[in-house]
Amino acid sequence: MSAKTILIVGGGVIGLSVAYYAMRAGHRVIIVERGAPDHDSCSLGNAGMVVPSHFVPLAAPGMVAYGLRTMWNPESPFYIRPRLSRDLLDWGWKFMRTATAEWVDRAAPLLRDLSLAGRQCFIELAAEWDNAFGLVQKGLLMLCKTEHALHEEGATAKRANRLGIPAQVLTPEETARLEPNLTMDIAGAVYFPHDCHLSPQRFVAELTRRLIDGGAQFRWCAEVVGWRADGRWIESVCTSAGELQADEYVIAGGAWSPRIAHALRAYLPMQAGKGYSVTLRQPKQTPEICAILVEARVAVTPMPLDGALRFGGTMEIVGLDESINPARVRGIVNAVHRYLPAFSPEDFRDVPVWRGLRPVSPDGLPYVGRLRSYDNLSVATGHAMMGLSLGPITGKLMAQVLSGAPPAIDMTLLDPDRFA
Ligand SMILES: Cc1cc2nc3c(=O)[nH]c(=O)nc-3n(C[C@H](O)[C@H](O)[C@H](O)COP(=O)(O)OP(=O)(O)OC[C@H]3O[C@@H](n4cnc5c(N)ncnc54)[C@H](O)[C@@H]3O)c2cc1C
Repeated sequence: MSAKTILIVGGGVIGLSVAYYAMRAGHRVIIVERGAPDHDSCSLGNAGMVVPSHFVPLAAPGMVAYGLRTMWNPESPFYIRPRLSRDLLDWGWKFMRTATAEWVDRAAPLLRDLSLAGRQCFIELAAEWDNAFGLVQKGLLMLCKTEHALHEEGATAKRANRLGIPAQVLTPEETARLEPNLTMDIAGAVYFPHDCHLSPQRFVAELTRRLIDGGAQFRWCAEVVGWRADGRWIESVCTSAGELQADEYVIAGGAWSPRIAHALRAYLPMQAGKGYSVTLRQPKQTPEICAILVEARVAVTPMPLDGALRFGGTMEIVGLDESINPARVRGIVNAVHRYLPAFSPEDFRDVPVWRGLRPVSPDGLPYVGRLRSYDNLSVATGHAMMGLSLGPITGKLMAQVLSGAPPAIDMTLLDPDRFA
């Protein structure tokens, strides 16, 4: 393999992971990021979970009905702002058509393989980096408030077992034995022992540091505004800080990727799925295991290394709008008390609210690989709720693609041209 210069657009967890594994494969890398070195992104304030438990794609039966049901509740965890947008209608139509049982059967084994291989990457990186990002391998608890939710999660657990992912239904007493430091008011839980959690900020910071130490070039405060192409060949990328050249280009701009790719006539149907998190620096109780409050769709993660406790949730499809909607944040805060009575909404008073835009494809799978219309352009985006979890495996697979090696996992379903 000959070493190439690879330019990656976007310094979130996906762009950095692609850069890191490409550098390890012997390539020179340039990361072009519109933000400054201390910029915020969706990759920082997320819940930090590594989730083999998430093998059901977002586009699954029942999701459309659920979306319609919850649309009118301002505090609900899922919301699509109705608006006359061609992109939204097109995305919604594709989502509805894909959300079938057959699609779940096809996508689930791939999501399992990606998640388990991704988890293995984190374990290896933790060993190599002296666990600088606090990987905790204690699993994940799906905490159910109602018998109905427990029954549904129990069915998912059986399905997980059939796919080779361990999962176990627990009574409230069994859950309390696993999590003795947390007061819970629940009907039961499902335990996924292979899930993990970590500090996303520390992971991104360590990736950045290792890239810089390895000789990667960072072009901060450089927004990609256009491209120069000659036929099937991208000659250069135009940024607010000047033109940059490379042998290969990778678009990893998160929710902004369709906009970045637009000038190249690349068609990546995507919506931004806004989520929020609030982090208690000195929580009243600190769990050992990360959890999801199932009916409320709130993630609860003890942040390793600093003793904080993060609560995250909601999926608002409202375009590239980064404003904070207090009603949705209230929805998260009010839900916590119902499952974890030691916490009250008062605990969250004056706690800063973080928000991030997830890049959400209409079929629940990311776009990873080369685009057909050019010989030196690839995409790595659309990871929705799993971008941290799948970051390293995406980087590893992309490094194989860029090096001309066969990818370790069949990437056919991730084809970025699948809707073209
Ligand atoms: C509340 C919440 C909780 C979550 N919890 C989890 C979790 O527990 N586990 C998990 O796996 N995932 C989780 N996620 C999802 C995860 O955070 C995302 O999937 C992931 O961060 C996406 O990474 P990215 O690199 O694709 O995008 P981003 O992090 O958004 O990075 C994209 C980068 O591209 C840059 N950019 C954009 N346009 C341009 C341009 N024109 N020129 C140059 N640069 C540009 C942006 O500035 C940004 O830095 C959560 C998300 C939210 C909102």
